[in-house]
Amino acid sequence: MDVIFLGPPGAGKGTQAQILEKIHGLHQLSTGDMLRKNRMEGTELGKLAQSYMDRGDLVPDDIIIAVVEKELERLPGALFDGFPRTVPQAEALDKLLHRKNRPYTVILFDVGEHLIRERLIGRWVNPKTGRVFHERFSPPPDGKIDTDGTPLIQREDDKPEAVRHRLDVYRKQTEPLIAYYGDARRGRLVKVDATESVENVSKVIAHALGFQDVAATQ
Ligand code: ADP
Ligand code: AMP
Repeated sequence: MDVIFLGPPGAGKGTQAQILEKIHGLHQLSTGDMLRKNRMEGTELGKLAQSYMDRGDLVPDDIIIAVVEKELERLPGALFDGFPRTVPQAEALDKLLHRKNRPYTVILFDVGEHLIRERLIGRWVNPKTGRVFHERFSPPPDGKIDTDGTPLIQREDDKPEAVRHRLDVYRKQTEPLIAYYGDARRGRLVKVDATESVENVSKVIAHALGFQDVAATQ
């Protein structure tokens, strides 16, 4: 099964991807997590991506598309989290999936900017696993150390200045994908109210993908 999560930064895509991976066995393919891992390991890709990411700009399409193409070779299905983010990325993914005869569903996370800012500014992450917490909505453990012993961090690009820029970038470069996927010849597009609690959003997504709801399986 292939699923694309579309929505602004801070909408809750990573949170929901991790739940779907854990409960329903989908494979989360987060381009943001992959880039951060490469940065931590000091690879060429990580060095290349660094300045774009710190500014809150998108990494160039050809670089990201090559990374995803390589990943897809080994994955029979994926939950795309943070990809595609531009129309050329979406067209490239369409080609790749079409070639493999793999239909997909797009989940659009619908949430206003005020809430997004609040979510991003209070976000704490485990830099090793990508697990996310929120100061108020999903409080991290005492001392801000995750259960695997890793100290949690706040991302550079979650600072208010970078958040403002990332939301501009989202509006200009990623929002056009709503119309792109709204075309019925492409994948099925399902809009989800992402202002709801983590549990409620999970239930709606699980239902849209034809899974038994998450709460019932826990
Ligand atoms: P994205 O992957 O779309 O950038 P995240 O999943 O990292 O977003 O979520 C951003 C922040 O909001 C995190 O701190 C997360 O804990 C919190 N969060 C995610 N979903 C919800 C929700 N439904 N209600 C409240 N907080 C949420
Ligand atoms: P995310 O973790 O999804 O918020 O992504 C963090 C940063 O990684 C973004 O602000 C971009 O700089 C970069 N990035 C992640 N995914 C993509 C993508 N699909 N295209 C371009 N840049 C990306």
